[in-house]
Amino acid sequence: VAGGKSAQPLRILALANQKGGVGKTTTAINLGTALAAIGESVLVIDLDPQGNASTGLGIDRRNRKVSTYHVLAGEAELGAACVATAVPRLMVAPSTMDLLGLELEMASAQDRAHRLRNVLRNVGKDEATRGVTYVLIDCPPSLNLLTINALAAADAVLVPLQCEFFALEGLSQLLRTVEQVRGALNTRLTIQGIVLTMFDPRNNLSAQVEADVRSFMGEKVYETMIPRNVRVSEAPSHGKPVLLYDLKCAGSQAYLRLASEIIQREGRLPVAA
Ligand code: ADP
Ligand code: MG
Repeated sequence: VAGGKSAQPLRILALANQKGGVGKTTTAINLGTALAAIGESVLVIDLDPQGNASTGLGIDRRNRKVSTYHVLAGEAELGAACVATAVPRLMVAPSTMDLLGLELEMASAQDRAHRLRNVLRNVGKDEATRGVTYVLIDCPPSLNLLTINALAAADAVLVPLQCEFFALEGLSQLLRTVEQVRGALNTRLTIQGIVLTMFDPRNNLSAQVEADVRSFMGEKVYETMIPRNVRVSEAPSHGKPVLLYDLKCAGSQAYLRLASEIIQREGRLPVAA
């Protein structure tokens, strides 16, 4: 890891959108890979019981003995859940279906909304996560207690938005939730940015949604859009980020541009690897 020259501050980003199938998990995997490729040190936290981020990063069920469930339930340290991936400087804390039961188990606990924040308190400093500069939290497709935990723990929310008809409607609801969390649980929470996913330049609806989202959200929308690309959707079945599966495809190139746009906007220079 970065060792003594890890001058970069830690950023914790929640990838959230209560709609399913908009590209949260795909973005967690591939933005994480792209950030690692340009020298950041990344931990993906899989907070979706489906475990798609874990699978897509090549972590099979046998290697999920310690998962985000155990960590949030207080049964294990975060470091015990972190596993290396095929990508240098990219780790994942995997999830399993056990997470489905956690919400109920936590329901009456005082700290139920702050479990993840407490778990991430030493990230970047303790032995297992030393030098980590980005934590990407892959949220489930709902505004449930798991997502609230992510928003309470994050510095900022990164919103993948699919270019489709009801995109803005869902966005308004998400923004209201972010406001509520900022008021009640996490005053420093901001919107990191909105990334348009599965963009299809030949489709008029895609262009219309892009124009609407850009006029509604202005500079918060990244210039980089992730195109609909079959290589992106094939990669998870090989347990690989698309950047390892086909570096030259349009999807990989878009995720590299997105990573670079994000670190530029934050005023971070690429760290020497
Ligand atoms: P979410 O995590 O928001 O539910 P996913 O990242 O799992 O969404 O994406 C939903 C589906 O769309 C997956 O099958 C994924 O492979 C596919 N997909 C995501 N992004 C792209 C893309 N840029 N091009 C093609 N398919 C994509
Ligand atoms: Mg997902």
